[in-house]
Amino acid sequence: MESAEQNRLLISEAEAKQRLIEAGLILDAAGLGDLTRGHVSVRVPGDPEFFFMKPHSQGLDEITPENIVRCNLAGEKVGGSGRRHSEVFIHSEIYRARPDVHSVIHAHPTHAVAFSATGRKLLPISQPSVAFADGLPYFTDCIDLIRTPELGASVARALGGCKAVLMRNHGVAVVGASLEESTVLAIMLENACRIQLLAQAGGGIGAVFPEAAVQRLHHDITRPEQYRINFDYLLRRVHRGEPVV
Ligand SMILES: [Zn+2]
Repeated sequence: MESAEQNRLLISEAEAKQRLIEAGLILDAAGLGDLTRGHVSVRVPGDPEFFFMKPHSQGLDEITPENIVRCNLAGEKVGGSGRRHSEVFIHSEIYRARPDVHSVIHAHPTHAVAFSATGRKLLPISQPSVAFADGLPYFTDCIDLIRTPELGASVARALGGCKAVLMRNHGVAVVGASLEESTVLAIMLENACRIQLLAQAGGGIGAVFPEAAVQRLHHDITRPEQYRINFDYLLRRVHRGEPVV
């Protein structure tokens, strides 16, 4: 018979897999799939040297408990029936560098990629952009797929202690202390980039509010409870067949 502790871990692994499936459904509905090339992962509960990740060749909306890939922090597949993404090193190297991070998303969202091509700084001109008021750095080493631990480590270095990094002409890597946080932040980042592109195209950007006001709003909209509320709402919309963006 399983011990209570083993049973607890088994339950929480199943819950983590279910949450990964739900995050995939939300991200797909938000348009972050890019022909199966977007991916999402979460650390294994109680076993932070490993993480669960969406499988290669499947859409974000096609994750199942069986095809989820289990990887170690070297980026090696150690379980699951699915294929491992070659860009697994974005995830493994960020987990190695950031013990506070429990979920990583890499995607190629249209507006974020367009914004990354401008080379501009994201300005606090909208609520979603204020979520990134603590910094949105660029990764500019290459446009290639991140297929080596060295390149993954370089992405992690560019990310630093921030919530996301723009990978110039390629995509984004977004992190969170939870799957709820990374998922909601990935959608907010795409919205923030879209709004700034619209403002720039619509005649340019005017005055911004003072730093103290920006920091106040940043504190309000980045509370963990907010991410859970937003995630659960988006999941209800997905289950009702309604658009999430
Ligand atoms: Zn990519």
